[in-house]
Amino acid sequence: MNVFRTLGQALALALVLGGTARAEQDRPITLDTHVDIPFAYMHDPRFDAAHSDLLKVDLDKMKQGGLDAAFFIVYVEQGPLTPAGYAHAVVEAQTKYDDIALMIKRYPDRIGLATTPDQVRANRAAGKLSAMIGVENGYSLGHDLANLDKAYAHGARYVGLAHMGHNDLCTSSTPEADLGDPPLSDAGISDFGRSVVKRANQLGIMVDVSHSSDACVRDVLALSTSPIIASHSSSRALLNHPRNLSDDLLRAIAAKGGVIQAVAVGTYLKYDGGRELAEKALQAQVAHAAGHKAFDAEKDGYLPAYVEGMKRIDAAFPLPTVDDFARHIRHMVDVAGVDHVGIASDFDGGGGLADWNDATQTRNVTAALRRQGFSDADIAKLWSGNLLRVWGEVTERATVHHVAG
Ligand SMILES: [Zn+2]
Repeated sequence: MNVFRTLGQALALALVLGGTARAEQDRPITLDTHVDIPFAYMHDPRFDAAHSDLLKVDLDKMKQGGLDAAFFIVYVEQGPLTPAGYAHAVVEAQTKYDDIALMIKRYPDRIGLATTPDQVRANRAAGKLSAMIGVENGYSLGHDLANLDKAYAHGARYVGLAHMGHNDLCTSSTPEADLGDPPLSDAGISDFGRSVVKRANQLGIMVDVSHSSDACVRDVLALSTSPIIASHSSSRALLNHPRNLSDDLLRAIAAKGGVIQAVAVGTYLKYDGGRELAEKALQAQVAHAAGHKAFDAEKDGYLPAYVEGMKRIDAAFPLPTVDDFARHIRHMVDVAGVDHVGIASDFDGGGGLADWNDATQTRNVTAALRRQGFSDADIAKLWSGNLLRVWGEVTERATVHHVAG
């Protein structure tokens, strides 16, 4: 009886789909605190927010993988601490604010800007994705505190003080000899950096210490009147890399009520010297072929020769897995407590694992957290509960009150 079999199959399918829809509604909000965008975002059709074969995060991939919310990053590379350098950085940051605004303007039914934790929850309830804005490298403030107020007005809700290379706010965890940086010392935050932290506290912008030197992190912990975050850093006890945080600093950030967002960058999770050499060789080769002095991720990172070369490297030297990532999260939770750890991909900025290599594979992270023994309640905190709590506290402690709209 063909028709009954078909009907039976249809009923089974309806049950499965109904169950999936319910599970989808019940699962916690998934929030990624670090997603980069290229400078040609929304202008070059290859980098359209809705769908891009070259980007690890787009609206289709977020929807498919169940990633609800992401901080899109206004990143500017470290350059000279000169008036011309500052002016250039301010212009570059503006490009990224404009591009994020364009994404929201072009796809208003699919994604909404969230400038409060409640907006993230409301977007999720309305079946919409959330875009938040984070600043990576306070250099893009152009050494002018008024630009922090402008960043807030654009919707930025965290400010990462440094990137690679010391800047006018603080010392970096990775000094750049090319920029003339002295090696790491006890030097941490500058007077301008202090004024940025103070103003961020007043405005209700989270201060982000990922990429800051240990000395700077300690200065910020002493200075900030609100909890702080590390938007994308993993555990230095498990992998000794300056971009990761020591157990002492994990404890100190937690003691201040903050959150550390473990990051899915392979080189911060598991050492693979062969892969590192192969990547450097490919970068040199691609840059040389393109006629550039040094590899530039922005210009060279999307060239077919690089994309294809990285596929060969991924096959020869597999990236760490979500289980390697979950081991860092487990250690960070053991040290800092389950209320003080979260999740960041650093997609399109160097992040990606063998089995979380774009937003479609976000559920693999949840599965790895289960394998690490985390409960549903823990997983909800790790995926968004902790970050939203800290964001809410930072907002409540703000002393400058803005008129909505
Ligand atoms: Zn970064």
